[in-house]
Amino acid sequence: MTGTDRPVADVIVVGAGIAGLYAVHRFRRAGLTVKVFEAGDDIGGTWHWNRYPGARVDIPSVDYMYSFDPDWQLDWQWSEKYATQPEILRYLDHVADKFDLRRDITLNTRVDAARWDDHRAVWHVRTGAETTTCRHLVMATGCLSIPKDPDIDGVERFAGKTYFTSRWPRDPVDFTGQRVAVIGTGSSGIQCIPHIARQADELLVFQRTPNFSLPAHNGPLPPHKLEQLRDEAGYRAAGRLSFGGVPIERTMTPTFTVSEDERRERYERAWQIGELLELLNVYSDVMSDTAANHELAEFFRAKIRATVDDPETAEALCPSGYPIGAKRVCLDTDYFATFNRDNVRLVDLRRDPLRSVTETGIDTLSESFNVDAIVFATGFDAVTGAVLSVDVKGRDGRTLGHAWADGPRTYLGLSVAGFPNLFLVTGPGSPSVLSNMAVSIEQHVDLIADIIDNLRDNGFDAVEPTDVAVAGWMQHVEDCADITLFPQGNSWYRGANIPGKPTVFMPYTAGVDFYRAACDEMVARDLLGFRRTGPSGEACSDGVIRRLQPDVQMVLEQTALMGLPPLESMSPQDARTAFGAVIAMYPPGPAVAEVVDGRYPAAVGERDYRLYRPPTPGPHPIVLYFHGGGWVLGDSRSDDALCRDLCVRTEAIVVSADYRHAPEDRFPAAAEDAVAALSWVAASATDLGGDPTRLVVSGWSAGAGLATVACRAARASGGPAIAGQALLAPVTDSDTSRASYVENGSGYDLDASLMQWFFDQYCDVPDRRDPRIAPLRTADLSSMPPAVIVTNEFDVLRDEGEAYAEALRAAGVAVEHLRARGHTHCSLTMVGLVVSGAPVREQFASAVRTLLARAPQVTAR
Ligand SMILES: Cc1cc2nc3c(=O)[nH]c(=O)nc-3n(C[C@H](O)[C@H](O)[C@H](O)COP(=O)(O)OP(=O)(O)OC[C@H]3O[C@@H](n4cnc5c(N)ncnc54)[C@H](O)[C@@H]3O)c2cc1C
Repeated sequence: MTGTDRPVADVIVVGAGIAGLYAVHRFRRAGLTVKVFEAGDDIGGTWHWNRYPGARVDIPSVDYMYSFDPDWQLDWQWSEKYATQPEILRYLDHVADKFDLRRDITLNTRVDAARWDDHRAVWHVRTGAETTTCRHLVMATGCLSIPKDPDIDGVERFAGKTYFTSRWPRDPVDFTGQRVAVIGTGSSGIQCIPHIARQADELLVFQRTPNFSLPAHNGPLPPHKLEQLRDEAGYRAAGRLSFGGVPIERTMTPTFTVSEDERRERYERAWQIGELLELLNVYSDVMSDTAANHELAEFFRAKIRATVDDPETAEALCPSGYPIGAKRVCLDTDYFATFNRDNVRLVDLRRDPLRSVTETGIDTLSESFNVDAIVFATGFDAVTGAVLSVDVKGRDGRTLGHAWADGPRTYLGLSVAGFPNLFLVTGPGSPSVLSNMAVSIEQHVDLIADIIDNLRDNGFDAVEPTDVAVAGWMQHVEDCADITLFPQGNSWYRGANIPGKPTVFMPYTAGVDFYRAACDEMVARDLLGFRRTGPSGEACSDGVIRRLQPDVQMVLEQTALMGLPPLESMSPQDARTAFGAVIAMYPPGPAVAEVVDGRYPAAVGERDYRLYRPPTPGPHPIVLYFHGGGWVLGDSRSDDALCRDLCVRTEAIVVSADYRHAPEDRFPAAAEDAVAALSWVAASATDLGGDPTRLVVSGWSAGAGLATVACRAARASGGPAIAGQALLAPVTDSDTSRASYVENGSGYDLDASLMQWFFDQYCDVPDRRDPRIAPLRTADLSSMPPAVIVTNEFDVLRDEGEAYAEALRAAGVAVEHLRARGHTHCSLTMVGLVVSGAPVREQFASAVRTLLARAPQVTAR
C-alpha cells in the first residue's frame, strides 16, 4: 500500500447505513473531511439489503429516527407505528438529500483491508486496487450486515429458486402458485412467513428453535406518542437517558412484590401495547430472576397455545429451554395465527432434524419435501462479523482477528487497544443490538467526533485505549451480563449461531442510560483510559471507568437521587427511622420454613431475637448472627433478608440477636450483650431445634466485630465450643487513617464521616483501642475459631478486615478470606437487589457450611 503525504480525508467511514449517513453529517459539522465507502449499490444499510416481504422496524418508527434533525414533524411523518422497509429507506433517502450527504459517499466499493501506519499516524484503506489514506477510520459496518452462511448441506444443488431475507432482490418476488420453504424462525422469518403464506400455494416452515414473539398491534401512530412529541427536544433527550433508547421509565418493581392478579394484568397490558422494550421492562427482575422470567415466558406460551388451533403445532411453537429475552424477542403481525392456515405446515427440526437440501427440495431425517423456492432466514454473523471481514492491521501489523481470537475486546465498544484511530460504531461492549440502534448510533458518532475534536484541540494525532482501560471495561461488560439471564440463551448475542465463533456475550446489558453515563464520565475525566500521542507529546489518563458491580452502582445512583440527608447529620433516633425506611424498601429475602421472634437474657435485662429455620429436617447447626448498624442502628430484624439468605444457603438455624445500642447504652454494652447472647444460644441450642455441637458466630459490620468479641470471650472462658467465626465486612479497628478510609471515604454507602459518628456515639476516644471495639488489637489471636472473612473493595473497613485476616493467619488460625470485587460496605446485604452479591454470599455460605462440618474448636486461655 502507498499513501500520499497528507491523508486524503480526515475520516474514512466504512458503510452508508444509518451510522454512515449520520457520520458524514456530524463529521462535516466538526470541520472534518469525510469519505464513505459502501459495498452496496445504494445507501441505507440494513434497509437497503433486507427487502423481504413484511420487513419492518421493531422499535416504534418515531423513536427509530435521527434526533439531530428535530423538525421531523415539519418534513417527515411516518404512516404507521412500525414503518415498513420501503418507508424507512425513503426516510433515509430524504435525510441524505436534505443534508446533501451523497457527495461524500462512494457506492459499490467494498473496503477489503486497512493498515495502520504508525510512522505517519494514518490508516491506509484498500478498496479493490485503490488505496486511500485517512487519519481516522470509522467502522460503520453494521451489527447485522454479514449474513450467516446457511451451513446446510446441498444448498448449491437445489434447482429451484433460493432467496435470502438479508439479500432480497429489488424487484418484488411473486410466490403465487408455488410451494415454498422458509428455513429459520428468527425476526426475519417471523416477519416474512405470514406474507409468504398469503401468497404461496403451500408454505413449509422449517423451525429449529422456536422464538418468543410479541404481536406488534401495528396501526396509526399512538396518540400518546404524538402528544409526547409535541416537545420533541424533551422527548429525544428522554430517549437518550432511558434504558433502551426509547423514553420508557425503568421499572424498579420486582415481579413477586405484587399480587398474581396485578402481574397478569401487567403482562396483558404489555402484550396489548406491543412494544419490545415495554415487555422486558414489565418488572425490574425479568432479566435477572429465573422465576420472574419463567412466569413471563409462561404467559407467552399460554398465548401461543390459545392462538394456534393444532395442539401439537402449538407445542412445537412454544419456546423452551432458554429464558425469554435471552434470544432476541421478535415482533410480529399474525405470525402464530398463520399456522392455522390450511396451506401452512410447521416442520419441527428438533424432532426431525434437517439432513440436506436436495435438487428438488429439503430432506429431513424422516421426510422429503419438494418445493419450488427456498427462503433462507438464517440470520447474521452478528456484531463482529462485518468488522472482522475487513483485514484490519493495527500497530506492528497485528490483525484485529488475532486481537479478538478469544472474543472481541474493546473499550466502551468503541475502540481497540493496538488499533489507534480506529472507531467502531455500536461495537461489542456497547448497548448496540439491545437498544434502539438509532439512538446508540448517534451517541457513538457524536462521541467519536468529540474525541477527534479533543485530539485536534490539544495537538495530538492519534488516540487508542490502554490495556488497563480495555481489561476494566471487558470485566464490567461481563459483570453486567453475569447478573442477567441474557447469557443463558444460545443466541447470536453470544456468537453461538456461528460455528467456531468464540461464545462471549457481546452487547452491554446495563442499558443505554448507564452506558451514556460511563462515556460522559470518560470524556469529563480527560478521556480516561485513552492514550493520546502526536507532535505535542503524549497524554494518558489511564484507569478503569467502571469498577463497581453494575447493580451496586445502580443502587448508589438511585439512593443519591433520593437526596437523603447524611445519617450523621441527624439525631440517633431520626437516623434509626431513616435507616429503617430505607431497609423497608429492599425486597424481602428468600422464604424459610419458620421465623420465630423471641426474647433472650442479655447482659442487662432481655433483648429480642429472631430465629430463621431452614426447611430441611433438624436438628440443624446454628449460626448466631449480630446485625450491622455501627452499634447505633438496626435490631434483630434489620438484616432480615441477609439472615434468610444465610439460613437457606447454609441450611442452618440463624439466630439474629439484638444488643443494646448507643448512645443510650455506650461501650461496652453491646459487647456484653453479644457475649450473653452466645452463652444463651449455646445453652438453648437443643430447645431451639439446633445441634449444640455445631455453632458458628457471625455478623456484619459492627455486628461482625461483636461476633469476634463473643468468640474471644468464649476462648477466654473455655466455652461454648465454636466451630467458626463468619465475618462480613467486620469492624476490627478504630484506625481511620488506613488507605481504604481515604480511598473509599465518601461516595459509597458507608462514609468515613458516618463511621466517625458511629464511634463517637458508641465510645470515648481512649476506649477505641480496647480489643472489644478493635479486635485487631488483641495481643494474642491464637486459638481463635477458624474464620471466613469477607472484605469489600469499596468499603472504608476493607483494609482492617484484610489486616484481621492476616493477623489471624499469623496467629495460626485457619482463615478463608473472600474479597468482594466491586462491592461496597452494604451491597452484599441487599439480597434481592444486588444480584452480583449472590456468588459472594454463596462462597461465604459454603465456607460456613465447611466450618460447621468441622469439629468445634475451643481452647481455654
Ligand atoms: C431485518 C432487520 C431489522 C432490524 N430492525 C431493527 C429495529 O427495529 N430497531 C433497531 O434498533 N435495529 C434494528 N435492526 C438493526 C439495524 O441493523 C440497525 O438498526 C441499523 O440499521 C444499523 O445501521 P448501521 O449503519 O450501523 O449498519 P447497517 O445498516 O448494517 O449498514 C452497514 C453498511 O455497511 C456496509 N458495509 C459493511 N462492510 C463493508 C465493507 N467492508 N466495505 C464497505 N461497506 C461495508 C454494508 O453494506 C451496509 O450497507 C434491524 C436489523 C435487521 C437486519
